[in-house]
Amino acid sequence: MELKQLYREIVNEHNMHPVHKGKMESADLVLRGVNPSCGDDITLQLKIDGDVITDAMYEGSGCAISQASVDMMADQIIGKKKDEAIKLAGTFMGMIKGEITDEESIEALDEAAALQDVAHMPARVKCAVLGWHTMQEMLEHPEKANESAQ
Ligand code: ZN
Repeated sequence: MELKQLYREIVNEHNMHPVHKGKMESADLVLRGVNPSCGDDITLQLKIDGDVITDAMYEGSGCAISQASVDMMADQIIGKKKDEAIKLAGTFMGMIKGEITDEESIEALDEAAALQDVAHMPARVKCAVLGWHTMQEMLEHPEKANESAQ
């Protein structure tokens, strides 16, 4: 199978059968992320134990790229330390902006590397980074994400 086709199937699979979509009971951090230019609207919910992200879920709706991206992101960060997740968000956003192209960095993103081609679609960049940007924002500024948590 051609690599690009495989990537497209990974995106489709996460979009049609999301693993982490739904409402989390007693989340520690909750933050909404909106991309008005496309209409993507997600609410990310994280469970935190000390320094470690123990669970991640999201609610909302949007285009295939935004939804697949946030689902893959949730997959990636569960079990990771907060600073590792923030670093991963930086790598992902760098890849999407075309600034990070070395294989080793991109391999660290696992399935999310499937979105690398978005770097050539400027109109979709905000869709792809929405979930990652929201995650980074709530970890770096938990005061923004505490208010709406239960
Ligand atoms: Zn979108």
